[in-house]
Amino acid sequence: MTKSSVISGFYKLSPKERLAIVKDFAGLTDEETQLLLQTCSLPIDVADHMIENVIGVFPEPLGVAVNFQVNGKDYLVPMATEEPSVIAAASFAAKMVRDGGGFHASSTEPVMIGQIQVVGAKDAQLGKKHVFDAKAAVLKMANDQDPVLNSFGGGAKDLDAKIIETPLGQMLIVELYVDCRDAMGANAVNTMAEAITPLVEQLTGGHVYLRIISNLATKRLAKAWCTVPKESLGGQAVVDGIAYASAFAAADPFRAATHNKGALNGIIAVILATGNDHRAIEAGAHAYAALKGSYTSISKWTKNVNGDLEGSIELPMAVGLIGGAVKTHPIARIAMKILGVKSANEFSEVLAAVGLAQNLGALRALANEGIQRGHMSLHARNIAITAGAKDELIDLVADRMVKERKVRVDRAKEILEELTK
Ligand code: NAD
Repeated sequence: MTKSSVISGFYKLSPKERLAIVKDFAGLTDEETQLLLQTCSLPIDVADHMIENVIGVFPEPLGVAVNFQVNGKDYLVPMATEEPSVIAAASFAAKMVRDGGGFHASSTEPVMIGQIQVVGAKDAQLGKKHVFDAKAAVLKMANDQDPVLNSFGGGAKDLDAKIIETPLGQMLIVELYVDCRDAMGANAVNTMAEAITPLVEQLTGGHVYLRIISNLATKRLAKAWCTVPKESLGGQAVVDGIAYASAFAAADPFRAATHNKGALNGIIAVILATGNDHRAIEAGAHAYAALKGSYTSISKWTKNVNGDLEGSIELPMAVGLIGGAVKTHPIARIAMKILGVKSANEFSEVLAAVGLAQNLGALRALANEGIQRGHMSLHARNIAITAGAKDELIDLVADRMVKERKVRVDRAKEILEELTK
């Protein structure tokens, strides 16, 4: 039976009721659902093995975005975020996109780039030639480091070399192209880059300083695109507003930074929930946005001949289903199970779709009533809590502030005082 991620009224349910639905959708065990409901589901001894100098854990809310359909498959998307309105906006946008046939997505092979920095080679051109001549030996030496990756069809597949001019003179940069399969690959690539260093020094006659992965993963791209009917968006004026917003972001780095942040709101929430490396994704996205010399938007929205909205996004997506914290963090494991992706490629495509949805959600609000209405009504609850409201008082204080259009801590305190008199 095909599963549907359309769950009407999901947001009105209690966390326990929502979890019961997710349990059914993803086939979670009783143990897994119990773990999700615990206040602290990351045991301190596990945390202590993950990083250094551990003194506690830092919990974040974990939610699920609904309505997502990517390449014909339905997904419930786990998202960890401290920002209100992200999950609601993603779910709403995914619903509008669904009306236009859902998201379509594709990705390249999961190839990461490892860089080896050669300094002081007497003849960089000749060094480069020697590296190319010895390509087979270099790749073999790299692949000898990771028989497991090789067994999955991955490994060092190719290399390149470039000469760059820097403030400290010419450098020869050897680049190793490693197919990381279902791993993000930083450890795998760094190990290979370090292992081939003596051979590269011998071939080039230079000294190697850095040997490390590049987060500008231009060989590991994910793309998503969609069509949104104008009726679903609220009419032609909204389509026009979003197209103008997109043109603004394309032309102006100040707007592009916020435009891209909007897309990353969604992507990073999934990256966090699944224990992946969010710094790698953010660095990659922003560097990719600036690749042509000026920082621009990673997504594009235009009006098509029918007057409907068409959108697309493309960015590097170095993510893994194994490695790093993905398998060690108990909640990340469950989040991955909820998402139900079978490969890092499929994962990267869903992430691109989430980015496009999040971007659309923000642009629709901006092009329509402005972002603050939806945002502030959710944010009001945070303000109410900050002012000291508890239990049912949180919503009472928040609702009053939204009605009055005064979402501020001082006003929340006044209302709270009034209500508790
Ligand atoms: P990893 O080394 O933990 O796991 C990858 C290894 O798992 C592979 O080398 C392979 O031997 C094995 N493997 C088993 N099944 C596999 C499969 N199906 N596909 C691929 N490999 C499989 O992790 P990693 O992905 O190499 O590195 C990710 C970690 O590196 C993250 O925690 C990241 O934060 C960290 N890191 C990032 C950077 C950076 O982005 N600049 C730098 C250093 C470290």
